[in-house]
Amino acid sequence: MESNTAPGTSSDTVSRAMYEQLQRRYERLMEISRQLNSTLDLGALLRRIIDAARELTDTEEASILLIDPATGELRFEAASNLSRAEMEAIPVPMQGSLAGWVATHGEPVLVRDAKSDARWFPRVDKTTQFSTRNLLAVPMNLHNRPIGVLEAINKRGDQPWSGDDRDILAALADQAAIAVQNARLFQQSDFIAEMVHELRTPLAALRASAALLARPTLPPDAYQEIVRTLQQETERLTALTTDFLDLARLESGRTRLEMTRFDVRALLDECVSLIAPKASERAISLTVRPGTQQAHADRDRIKQVLLNLLTNAIKYNVEGGSVTVALDVTPANRADAAQPGEQIVISVTDSGPGISAEDQPHIFDKFYRASAVAGQISGTGLGLSIAQRIVEAHGCALWFESTPGADTTFYFTLPLAGSAT
Ligand code: ADP
Repeated sequence: MESNTAPGTSSDTVSRAMYEQLQRRYERLMEISRQLNSTLDLGALLRRIIDAARELTDTEEASILLIDPATGELRFEAASNLSRAEMEAIPVPMQGSLAGWVATHGEPVLVRDAKSDARWFPRVDKTTQFSTRNLLAVPMNLHNRPIGVLEAINKRGDQPWSGDDRDILAALADQAAIAVQNARLFQQSDFIAEMVHELRTPLAALRASAALLARPTLPPDAYQEIVRTLQQETERLTALTTDFLDLARLESGRTRLEMTRFDVRALLDECVSLIAPKASERAISLTVRPGTQQAHADRDRIKQVLLNLLTNAIKYNVEGGSVTVALDVTPANRADAAQPGEQIVISVTDSGPGISAEDQPHIFDKFYRASAVAGQISGTGLGLSIAQRIVEAHGCALWFESTPGADTTFYFTLPLAGSAT
């Protein structure tokens, strides 16, 4: 490159120093990119990306928002200044946020005064007491389509934002998009491997039963027993494949939510009458507490969640026990950042025997079944994973409280229908 300044002058030294600094940043980017490709743990990967973004742009904070494949909405997946509960409680709209603008236009945006930009989404600062002054947001592109947005927030020191910052963050974001995709594919392949493993047990039982039936002499009792096994295991295979497909669809984004306004009380009553025959088989009483609310959600999907929780509350209950369903609005003492009165809370309480301390951390894991019930009570271990995925696709949460030996309550939140919906 030609220079108008004579060699050795101070301005030449400055530009050389800047050039060397830029070269160091690119070398660091290459090093970070290699590290990104060495992990398939999505959570750890996202944390590495935000650390790298802060380091490469010299900013106070950084965050990653990914487009939720199920809903097409933006979600915080990692942020240096937000807790997990805050990230879950703040869905970021596509319309009316800088991240949404970047995701829809597929272009970077540099904002020197965030608060005066009409696209800025102030809710994050309001919820967290953090003050965003300036930010650079770039799309995370995969095959020319954005899968998310990487943001670097509040430049440190007195260096202004530069075109180099934009280029280097854009390069990191594209590397990050590939690494995120790899981690997601790995998660899926893990799920498929587990599924194949789960299919083996009923298949082995079917095979053994078929071999026994083929024997020329078989006592009539044994015949009945084999037919029962054939029926049970075929049902188990059907349930497993149905649940597996449902979960795979939810995770891959092939399921779209059909959002409508509906009366939650009417839905609770409908689900309770569907489940009543199963309850009376075990002499379990079903009660719906008084109250009503209008929700804005996918009614069929929420029905599926409720039926799953109610079925569990009956299956894993004591003979002659009770199940109580209640609805309320978010209380003030929720651990996450949902505002009091902002969401509907539905609870399903059963009279026990509860979930043991060892099982509690795992019951939302795919295929997990408490050892006390596996083999005794039929199930796939996928119902709660599906229910959780559906509730989370609404930007809401599903959780439980259980006293081992006593009782269990599952809770989930739902968006309250505003006057406009
Ligand atoms: P499934 O019922 O098909 O096994 P789920 O994903 O719905 O699968 O539940 C996972 C596990 O959580 C169950 O196998 C059971 O051990 C436990 N569980 C779920 N609900 C309850 C409940 N209400 N009380 C006690 N244990 C429960």
